[in-house]
Amino acid sequence: MKRLKEYPRYVTPDFEPFDPLELAKETEKTVTRRGPEGLERRYEDFYATGVYGGIATGYCVGCCFRCVFCWVSWARDFPEKFGRFHSPEKAFDQLREAAHRHKVNKLRISGAEPTLGRDHLLRLLEYVEESEFPLFILETNGILFGVDKGYVREIARFTKPHVRVSLKAGTPEDFTKKTGAKPEAFEIPFQAVRNLLDHNVSFHVASMSADPRIMTPEERNNLMQKLAEIDPHLLLDLEEEVMDGYNTTIARLKFAGLEVKWPLKQVYAPVKELLRKSRNYSGIS
Ligand code: SF4
Repeated sequence: MKRLKEYPRYVTPDFEPFDPLELAKETEKTVTRRGPEGLERRYEDFYATGVYGGIATGYCVGCCFRCVFCWVSWARDFPEKFGRFHSPEKAFDQLREAAHRHKVNKLRISGAEPTLGRDHLLRLLEYVEESEFPLFILETNGILFGVDKGYVREIARFTKPHVRVSLKAGTPEDFTKKTGAKPEAFEIPFQAVRNLLDHNVSFHVASMSADPRIMTPEERNNLMQKLAEIDPHLLLDLEEEVMDGYNTTIARLKFAGLEVKWPLKQVYAPVKELLRKSRNYSGIS
């Protein structure tokens, strides 16, 4: 695989679109390393948060997208400068400790792309599988699950993970503008959705599609159509998001030369609610 000319940090008006698979490989060189107890991954922190009704969270480092609306810390852009390496066992211990401290019983990895460092994630999931915790939320941009059905098959071995695939755009051009990745990669996250369906993995789709500041009605229609073509039921569980005004988000939008007005004044009506109210969605039950 050819190397990236330069490691991309964030999207700028004159950026050169990158191959997210090359970026995944380059990022893995920085955020993972072989250790005596398996593949180690860099994490910034372990804590618990109120989302998902309370969840212990490992905040890891490194992603293969450069989303302009990304809220995560600067560790996304400069992964070599942040975090400490943890073996799968150490990461699980820290997650368990955070869960006990905050009296929550769900676990997740957030703050970056958790599917980077496959051996680390799979080993961590083995610890989760044997544990008392009933649920592990696996949030992903779908790139590695889209190109590697075998990886999805490995995830399907476990009973605890629920995957949240986050789609960023509805057309190849918008995908490139928003993620920095080349337009040819646009289809990959949709393939991840197909792979998850084929392997009967528990999952749902999220999309940055409730916010008119970052998605036009045409782009949104296209996104919904693509999902409906895969399986109309996906729309009934679709989690539609809006941009939040984190400092990192505001800075990344500015670097990209995008003007966004705050606060958010209007949102699109959620597609799943429209569908549920509609009497005419025959074929969706
Ligand atoms: S929003 Fe998610 S996929 Fe996009 S750059 Fe941030 S961590 Fe990566």
